[in-house]
Amino acid sequence: MVVRTAVTAVRPARQVHDVLLAAPANAVALTVDDGPDPLWTPQMLDLLHRTGVLATFSLIGAQAHAYPDLVKRILAEGHAVTNHSMTHPQPFSRGNSATIRQQITDAQSAITDAGGVAPKLFRAPGGDWSAAVFSALQDLQMVPLGWDIDPRDWSRPGTGSVTTRLLAARAGDILLCHDGGGNRAQTIESLRTVLPILKARGLQFVTL
Ligand SMILES: [Zn+2]
Repeated sequence: MVVRTAVTAVRPARQVHDVLLAAPANAVALTVDDGPDPLWTPQMLDLLHRTGVLATFSLIGAQAHAYPDLVKRILAEGHAVTNHSMTHPQPFSRGNSATIRQQITDAQSAITDAGGVAPKLFRAPGGDWSAAVFSALQDLQMVPLGWDIDPRDWSRPGTGSVTTRLLAARAGDILLCHDGGGNRAQTIESLRTVLPILKARGLQFVTL
């Protein structure tokens, strides 16, 4: 028997088909968080271009404001962008409702100003969700974006570890990686191996 809680659970999208109902069955999505970063984002974009993979970049508003040309390049190369808050405060969900809303709307303005495209998806910093976050997103008609494959690349566990975890991806999965917030050499190196293998398995990368 399924026990349901009294409050209707709202949860972030964790699978491609939570966001894109009509995506092909073999779709996967690579999400790249915490940029744009002047050192790592160009390397990420170069790699994606070489491997023929499209990704979804979860942008920090302050970074988008500082590096608008990188936002433009991301979009010009066919990738998608989402809102990842203005300054990436953590723990995000502990902020009051006004602060949470401001973080989202400020980033929305910064990203739209930089790239001319208004994101429809929001990813909470640290994946830290709460009722206040969901409520703000509902008001703003934005969709909460989670993930289901997390290689913990931000913690720099070693390229081999990141690679092994990413290779667990199956059709429908949303993968989490980072191109900002620290040294992302392991992430780039791992994806150099992983992306061709996942493509060879017949997985199709889609943007969200
Ligand atoms: Zn982040």
